[in-house]
Amino acid sequence: MPLSRPGDPANFHLLHRVCKVVVLLCFLHISVTVVFYVRSLDTRFAFVQNQQYHGNATQRNQVTVTDLNRTHEPAEIQQQEAREKETESGERKLEKCPETSPLLVGPLRVEFNVPVSLDQIKRDNGDVRLGGRFKPRDCEAQQKVAVIIPFRKRDEHLKYWLHYLHPVLQRQQLDYGIYVINQDGDEIFNRAKLLNVGYTEALKEYEYECFVFSDVDLIPMDDRNTYRCFSQPRHLSVSMDKFGFRLPYYQYFGGVSSMSKEQYMKINGFPNNYWGWGGEDDDIYNRLVSRGMSISRPSGEVGKCRMIRHKRDDKNEPNPQRFDRIAHTRETMLKDGINSLSYRVVNTEKFELFTKITVDVGKP
Ligand code: BGC
Repeated sequence: MPLSRPGDPANFHLLHRVCKVVVLLCFLHISVTVVFYVRSLDTRFAFVQNQQYHGNATQRNQVTVTDLNRTHEPAEIQQQEAREKETESGERKLEKCPETSPLLVGPLRVEFNVPVSLDQIKRDNGDVRLGGRFKPRDCEAQQKVAVIIPFRKRDEHLKYWLHYLHPVLQRQQLDYGIYVINQDGDEIFNRAKLLNVGYTEALKEYEYECFVFSDVDLIPMDDRNTYRCFSQPRHLSVSMDKFGFRLPYYQYFGGVSSMSKEQYMKINGFPNNYWGWGGEDDDIYNRLVSRGMSISRPSGEVGKCRMIRHKRDDKNEPNPQRFDRIAHTRETMLKDGINSLSYRVVNTEKFELFTKITVDVGKP
């Protein structure tokens, strides 16, 4: 075979062809790079758009940055979807809140040595509306609850109550209102009659389905103790620090309890003639049992609560007639109750965190 020499036209031809292939490969390489670059631009654009969409959705729903960083429970995701459906279709109908609120945190630290200020409580509870009304923004509450507090000259205790309870009730996703029923004048105190007044007055304002009756000095230590109604009347303050975190006796129904409208009507409401301290809660227990109902209770752990220590109020001495009255509930409950209630509203005040109804309930 003849050897090719430099300058040989055959060599030149070969070099030319190799160069052409190299140029072609370079072109191919550049084209592929350009195609991938353009595609990556698309993805980045879509990502930015997506971020913007969620950013806007966040603003629409007023979810805070901390919320977005938190791990979302399935119930919360469902609620988020419900909200989005609502805004897309323009419909106002919200989905029902879940049976158990996903916002609950469990055990709470409750103490009364640091003073609380009403202004701070207002700032902390910006979603509470005039008169102490609230309903969840993202879902329709399971129940409409009126919280009734019998009251006289316990403003310091009321501040603690509002400080602790407003955040709890909001986390419990209730549609609620707070009614402080203030006994006018200096006559002997009548807790049960004030509760009857609260029931009646709250219903004039809103179609409440459930009534929680709470002493002003009792604070739950666990937000899983939901302030709502159950298929049986509920006793909520089942393990009070005052009683060593246990029930003082099985029939005890004092402190904090709840009843639906139907349960309350079935027992003709509460007695109006227990003046002074004691017995009215035992009478209510007797009423429930005589109408075939039983008491529902949370566990001792969930039902823990603290009482604000205080000296006995003036004009609320133990009622010496209470034992005799309790012995006759079955007869007296037919004519003494919501069907015989009479009172005079002296003043109704709408404060930012509660509604205060001052009432003349008469005297023994
Ligand atoms: C009274 C109740 C009271 C209970 C616990 C009973 O003797 O009758 O009204 O709630 O003691 O203090």
